[in-house]
Amino acid sequence: MQEVLLLKCGELVLKGLNRSRFESRLLHIVRARLQPLGQYKVSISQSTVYVQPCDGAPVDEALAVCMRVFGIVSVCRAAVCPKNMDDICRTACEYLAQELHDVRTFKVEARRADKRFPLTSPQIGAEVGASLLSRYPHLRAKMEGADRVVKVEIREEHAYISGRRMAGAGGMPTGTNGRAMLLLSGGIDSPVAGHMMARRGLELGAVHFFSYPYTSEEARDKVLELARILSGYAGKITVSVVPFTHIQQEIRDKCDEDYFTLIMRRFMMRLAERVAVHQGCSALITGESLGQVASQTIESLNATGSVCTLPVFRPLIGMDKEEIVVRARQIGTFETSILPYEDCCTVFTPRHPQTKPKLENVQAQESALDVDALVEEAFAGVERVTLG
Ligand code: ATP
Ligand code: MG
Repeated sequence: MQEVLLLKCGELVLKGLNRSRFESRLLHIVRARLQPLGQYKVSISQSTVYVQPCDGAPVDEALAVCMRVFGIVSVCRAAVCPKNMDDICRTACEYLAQELHDVRTFKVEARRADKRFPLTSPQIGAEVGASLLSRYPHLRAKMEGADRVVKVEIREEHAYISGRRMAGAGGMPTGTNGRAMLLLSGGIDSPVAGHMMARRGLELGAVHFFSYPYTSEEARDKVLELARILSGYAGKITVSVVPFTHIQQEIRDKCDEDYFTLIMRRFMMRLAERVAVHQGCSALITGESLGQVASQTIESLNATGSVCTLPVFRPLIGMDKEEIVVRARQIGTFETSILPYEDCCTVFTPRHPQTKPKLENVQAQESALDVDALVEEAFAGVERVTLG
């Protein structure tokens, strides 16, 4: 029995004239992600992407890959069969045997995209329902709240029969809304922030500030691993690793301790913008959440955000830590994020960080440093690693 994957597209159906651009981007992404697994025929029709494995290419792995493609709201496996009621009923009984064994109630939803097919959708549904009932007497038909919805779709060339649907990644296809630079630490928050914005159709670059020897090689590898996990959703990600030690030492030596974190974060934003512009990104993304730490009060966010001109997206700004953790678990970054390696933010942390900094005081503190030269030096030392 031939099996395919049916991927339902989400918001792109709403996109009017842009629709074909969205669809071709989505097809391109699905093809590229499946390519390492084997040969698949991928096509789109009426807001459904069809993925047909060829030459024994695996179905389960392809399903797992497709569930992480943004722009797809649901995913299911389906049996392909000839367009006549005998074959359709027989295939439904055989193909769904295991799934129906495990449930008590079901409903058949039929759709006839090919209007030349002799039966109407309700007639198709009734016939398939009757044959499932006679084959599986433990079942009961139930129109509202059935345990399992069986779908029969009559398309141009074939009929498709499917059962259980799984949620897709949702959102919009990667790259349809441009490119942005994620400030990626090894923590819980920033990978979630990157995932949320990539889900809105952004292609991601990432920048990581690295303070060797205060932070270890393991800390750097952990960040690369987080980027690799994100690339399973967002496609290729180039991580720019920025040497940050000299900047941190200069701040420690020349500025008041209370301002250390704020000034450090201003350097991060300047350098992130520099890397972003260099790589064609038009926004920055951080994992900041209002009030979570001293550097995330309104005044602190203002002091750090004011050094850059690109828009700064902070998708977690209104989320509680518990909500962020739930998402980190869902997307599979949590276990890596909690590995106990130091981030450069935890090096030289002040005992009494400023929580309501005045911009002019921050600027006065910063005037002890040669900001431009330090930014140039760090930028010149950037190392790039591409994942995905
Ligand atoms: P996270 O869990 O993402 O590390 P956090 O709650 O620890 O966030 P901060 O350490 O104040 O918060 O960092 C706020 C944001 O600044 C992070 O979400 C991230 O976007 C960015 N950031 C912090 N440290 C780094 C770093 N070493 N490299 C790149 N970006 C960083
Ligand atoms: Mg952090």
